[in-house]
Order: sequence, then structure tokens, then C-alpha cells
Amino acid sequence: MIKVQGLSKIYGENIAVDDISFEVKEGHIYGFLGPNGAGKSTTMNIITGYISPTYGTVEVNGYLMGKDTLKAKKSIGYLPEIPPLYPDMNVKEYLTFVARIKGVPGSEREAEINRVMEATAIKDMAKRLIKHLSKGYKQRVGIAQAILGNPEIIILDEPTVGLDPEQIIEVRTLIKSLKGEHTVILSSHILSEISATCDEVLVIANGRMVACDTTDNLLKNHKSVKTIKLNVKGDKDKTEEVLNSIEALEEVKFIENKGESNVFEVSCDPVKDLREDISFALSDARLLILEMNEETSSLEDIYLTLVKEADEQYAAEMKAISEGADLDEVFADKDDDPEDEKTESAEDSKEENESEEDSKEDSKEEE
Ligand code: ADP
Ligand code: MG
Repeated sequence: MIKVQGLSKIYGENIAVDDISFEVKEGHIYGFLGPNGAGKSTTMNIITGYISPTYGTVEVNGYLMGKDTLKAKKSIGYLPEIPPLYPDMNVKEYLTFVARIKGVPGSEREAEINRVMEATAIKDMAKRLIKHLSKGYKQRVGIAQAILGNPEIIILDEPTVGLDPEQIIEVRTLIKSLKGEHTVILSSHILSEISATCDEVLVIANGRMVACDTTDNLLKNHKSVKTIKLNVKGDKDKTEEVLNSIEALEEVKFIENKGESNVFEVSCDPVKDLREDISFALSDARLLILEMNEETSSLEDIYLTLVKEADEQYAAEMKAISEGADLDEVFADKDDDPEDEKTESAEDSKEENESEEDSKEDSKEEE
């Protein structure tokens, strides 16, 4: 359906997207997750043919973006970060305009506009000027223009940003309702946003894809740790000594003294249950456990770790480069020569893009 290979986008000295490859299969909801500035919007702008990559290719249903751009674009509906809305048009006029651009035949236009207005619950606003709509309604109009023409693939860049909690739930429900009939890619810098709607998560940090998996697999495959918080009555040093003697405990950390008792945090492998070992060892030493709580690292922890690791790797590479290290050594695990990947199609798409759709130009300038 969508095949992205070796995508990079370089702005001057800034690598916005760094060698990203992935495939998108039919009927799923994919989530691009990453901090601000990670490269999500840039990647989406390239996939939708909005901007051209520096290196790499995007294939949509067998059509190469940049070569068969119009055919590739035909199956994609896109809501960019800044929706391309015209404030002085009313909602219906605007959607009619979009339907024309998308080539919806005149005889089907009315029905199609009604369909998308119903799907996004904006029928009551049909005659209202876009500039007089609330942020939530504007976002819905943005989504309506993306799904107009019933494209197979719908790409939504931060669709819930700036909405209130009630509107967020409405937009989430709308996105979920697209599943099955459509393939959806959406982006967010908030994990809960992605885990609430997506089947697959692509974690992006510093322009690189650092994970691509289902949320379940992310939890399963990434080393998580279990922490156990203990409040133990008795001598601090003795408690610490006993805890340290339990071999399977990876780390023993003193947190605070609570008068007669002391709070410790210990960590271990999440598959082990060490509560018995801990309680027997402490009671043998006549130390009384007042409280014991365990926690396993969450998806949020894994996400934060992935981003932190990516940041550290990036910083280490930049440091090595600034100290004059051999580039081949720094990027030993990367493709030999990215110049080879520079395809003609990337060049072509640059030209095509420049002459395309004014509406998109507007929003690009705002960015
Ligand atoms: P995200 O959507 O994940 O927040 P972006 O894709 O918008 O991230 O940006 C990725 C990086 O590329 C950022 O460092 C941003 O400043 C940079 N960038 C994006 N667009 C441009 C541009 N047109 N010119 C120069 N730098 C850009
Ligand atoms: Mg963005």
C-alpha cells in the first residue's frame, strides 16, 4: 500500500528526516509518535507528495511519488499540521471547492459533501464562514476535506492538537470509525493519543525511526523493569544489608526515613516475583514490612527510554563529528553512500511540487 524507503530530508545543516523506511498495510491505523521537532510533519509532507525528499522513495499503491505523483496522490487524503482552510468561504463552499480540486464528478458532489459533513458532524455549520468557527470545528472541516473523495489512505498530522478533552474524544471516535475501510496514519507527540487509536506505532526521534511495532509488542520486546517500593520498620543499615543480600535484586535505593521505618526502592526483572524472597529475608532478620508496592514500566517509560537513547546516540555522533572523527566509522551501521540512493524521481517531484496546488503553498508559508 505505502512503501517508504531510505527517506531523508536535509535542510542546510539540519537533518529533519534521517533514513526512514517502513511499510504500511491496508486497513490499519498507524501512529507517528515523537517529540516536537522529531520529523513527523516532514515525513508526512513527503509521503503525501507535498514536499520532495532529499533522498529516498515513496511508493503508493505501486505509484512512485515524484514520478506518477498525481496517481500516487489520488489515493491519499491529507490533513496537514496547518489545515489549508479559506477563512472567507463558508463550510459548504469550501468543501465544494475541495471536491472540484479532487475531481469529484459534478453529479456526485452534493452527496459526497453531505457524506463528509455527516461523518465529521459539521452539517449544522454548513453555511457558517470558516473564520467564525471554533478551533474544534475548524479541525473537523480539515478532516472533512481529507476524507472527501473517499481516499483509501488518510493522513492526519496532529489531528487533536489544540482541542478540548470533549473534542479530542469526538475526533478519536471519528478516526476509529475510518478504520477498516481506510488506512490511517496520524501523528502526535503524546503517547496516550497514539495508544488510544493506533494499531501500530512508529516512534520517531531526531529524524530517525527508533521503533515500529504494535503497542503490545513494544511492551513485550523492550526490557522493562519492575520496581518495588518497600516501607520497612527497623534499622536502616540492617535493612539495606538484607536487601543487598538478595541476589536477584538489581538495584537497592534508599528513598527516605519515616521515623521508625525506612522507605527503599528496589528493581528487578519484571518476569520474576521476588516478593516472597524479600519478605522472608526481612522477617528472618526481624525486620517488619509495613508496605510493599510493585510497578512495572509502562509504555510511557519505554517511549521515553527510546527517545532518550536516540538523543544520546545523536549527541555522541555529533560530538564525534565535531572532534573530527571519520564519518564512515561514526555511521558504520548506516548505508554506505546515501548519494547512491538519490533517485531521479526525487528530482522530478521537486519540479512537480513547485507548480502544484496553491492551497498547499499558503499553509507552507505559515509554517
Ligand atoms: P515534528 O512534526 O515531529 O514536530 P518537523 O517535521 O516539523 O517535526 O521538523 C523536523 C525538523 O526539521 C525540525 O528541526 C524543524 O525545525 C526542521 N524543519 C522543518 N521544516 C523545515 C524547513 N522548511 N526549513 C528548515 N528546517 C525545517
Ligand atoms: Mg509536526
